[in-house]
Amino acid sequence: MEIPSEEITLVDKEQAILSQISPFFQVSETKYGGKGCFSYESIPRGTDILVSKPLGFTISKDFKKEVCHKCFNYDNGKTMKFRLSLPTFKNQSICFCSEKCLSAFKSMKYYEVYLRSLLNLDKLYTTFCTEEMAEVPVAGVSEFIHTIKGKWEQVEQWDASVLKTKPTKWQKLIPKITETEYLEIKYVLGVLHNQTDAFVFESRLFDLLQSNEISKVLKFKNLLVSYITIFKFIRLTSPPQFQKFINPLDIRLIIGNNLTNAFGIWTLNEGDKDFLGFGVYPSGSFFNHSCTPNIIKRRINNELHFLTLADIQKNDELCIDYGNYLEEPVNIRRKELSEWFFICTCKRCEMEAQT
Ligand SMILES: [Zn+2]
Ligand SMILES: [Zn+2]
Repeated sequence: MEIPSEEITLVDKEQAILSQISPFFQVSETKYGGKGCFSYESIPRGTDILVSKPLGFTISKDFKKEVCHKCFNYDNGKTMKFRLSLPTFKNQSICFCSEKCLSAFKSMKYYEVYLRSLLNLDKLYTTFCTEEMAEVPVAGVSEFIHTIKGKWEQVEQWDASVLKTKPTKWQKLIPKITETEYLEIKYVLGVLHNQTDAFVFESRLFDLLQSNEISKVLKFKNLLVSYITIFKFIRLTSPPQFQKFINPLDIRLIIGNNLTNAFGIWTLNEGDKDFLGFGVYPSGSFFNHSCTPNIIKRRINNELHFLTLADIQKNDELCIDYGNYLEEPVNIRRKELSEWFFICTCKRCEMEAQT
């Protein structure tokens, strides 16, 4: 059978991007479905095989002033001294740990648009915040799939009519948002900012990630209303430079990619760790899970480093641990891991399930 030429170029393009992730491994199809990472050659234990940068991230509201917006530095709750704001935002600023981090932020292409969008979000949140969670629609699975489709079609119509009106009239349409939605929006703004710069490598990988939006919405039905609110808020409040990247499909993809690909940003101290926020690291998202992982991730500043935990043989699959449930028995591990929408069939699970 002949493969149409446009399909070849698409596959080639995808492979070309994936092959730039790391000199140590290739990303290819696994035998059990989906992509995975396989070593080109043997790799000694303790090798740093990938350094990944966040494409979009969010810092929790409680830690906004205590975490550096560039390097995620957190100094035991001390307020960060270096701040960046804009003339029309009196009470809002973005915090940095040093002059160096502040300059690095300002050296980003279109940083001012990003900065304005972040400050604007904080300013609007003081007026548009709510603690009221979205209502949970009552429906069976197949019925609800139709509901999802129908609701988003309505959003498309809403969007088309909004775009016909002047942006000066948009203010009165802005919906109220919860803190969770605020965090999600902040992450989306980071992704949109990186999309304005077509040369960001992580941005090109982003489209190849697996979105689990539908599965997640089917499991937590109130998210449907929540995601629609997020879309509307982003449309109505984003700077003009972001507008051309905003449409229901792409925003859903950005949110969907976050659901199972996000890495938590935790304090680096030993013992009790605080959750500072989360980030999406596309190049670090192709590792599958194993209950006997041979890769471990370490956060150094805002980068995630992936290191080998054991000597790796040629063609071995490189796997990390998703959930820190390795001490638990197989049934509990599988239940906890189902949050990522898969049933673990790693060698250890298969063996323990038999006995
Ligand atoms: Zn910093
Ligand atoms: Zn397992």
